[in-house]
Amino acid sequence: MWRRESTIPVRIGNVVIGGGNPIAVQSMTNTHTEDVTATVYQIKRLEKAGCELVRVAVPTRDSALKLREIKKSISIPLIADLHFDLSLGFIALEMGVDKIRINPGTVPNRDILKSLVLEAKARNVPIRIGVNKGSLPDNYSKDKEGLVRCALDYLKLVEDWGYNNLVVSIKSSDPEETVSANILLASYVRYPISLGVTEAGGGWRGIVKSSIGMALALKEGIGDTIRVSLTGDPVMEVKVAYEILRTLGLRKRGVNLIACPTCGRCQVDLESYYKEVESALEDIKIPIDVAVMGCSVNGPGEARLADCGVAFGKDKAIFFIKGEIMGTFSPREAIEKLIGYVKEAERSKNENVTTVLLSTERDA
Ligand code: SF4
Repeated sequence: MWRRESTIPVRIGNVVIGGGNPIAVQSMTNTHTEDVTATVYQIKRLEKAGCELVRVAVPTRDSALKLREIKKSISIPLIADLHFDLSLGFIALEMGVDKIRINPGTVPNRDILKSLVLEAKARNVPIRIGVNKGSLPDNYSKDKEGLVRCALDYLKLVEDWGYNNLVVSIKSSDPEETVSANILLASYVRYPISLGVTEAGGGWRGIVKSSIGMALALKEGIGDTIRVSLTGDPVMEVKVAYEILRTLGLRKRGVNLIACPTCGRCQVDLESYYKEVESALEDIKIPIDVAVMGCSVNGPGEARLADCGVAFGKDKAIFFIKGEIMGTFSPREAIEKLIGYVKEAERSKNENVTTVLLSTERDA
């Protein structure tokens, strides 16, 4: 099996996936691509959340023609999602997209596909062969073998046309099938794998399905880029993707928030403080462990182990930095110190926490 360390690196704009590069987080807009203002605005929000590759639907000639304008306004690589009318792919390439995605189940004409592959080759733009169970061609069995067979057949087709700057994906709405199909796929191909559980739903249901499916595959060493598919605002997809990667120790970005569920011992409104901290630190990029804990049972222990933390008591809170007690404050003061510390660490692009520690000590 080809694990992510040994897949072939593929450059998509200024991002390289595969070959042991960091697992790239991607998402897809849900605006009408023709609406440049709305699409760029959403991509900017995705960028801010840490999205590293973005895909947009290209269902019409007008949407294809808008891709250049969209690309000019954003900082991350732009991927055109093509189905049915592959002639739009030529426009997308002309508009400067960084990658195109083709679905074998929605490619009615192989002659046009071949021409498009040769055009992508001429421009050295990578292609993802993205197989989706919901649109698997009729001649393949609707199981993991059929999904893998389809991906292999289309990869071979494109290779036979002389192009191998390729990424591949197999997606199912069943997390277990997604995992087993991707493990099987990785035993055949060295191309980078774009991993995701498709049509996972929204909210907590989608998050659970995506997390289980992705975590199992990621732990097997599979997945060079991931997309969490959730019904709703795609910014949530990026947040969930980083939380999955952070939890597995595969990417370190942003705040790892440690908080207790509270119980009858808690004497503050911990949920409100938690939400305040979460919201205030939403845009933090440096990796940092932050604890917000309800009482003296587990509070001091967790807060001491984190980079910084607050352990509440009755009308008071102990504030820790790197295991050291900075003082006992009112709950409000402690929360403000906690947020202030993390923001200051971010501002100084902090590798050396000592500077911040000293200034916070003086404040305390
Ligand atoms: S830390 Fe304290 S308040 Fe929080 S769950 Fe544990 S015992 Fe309850």
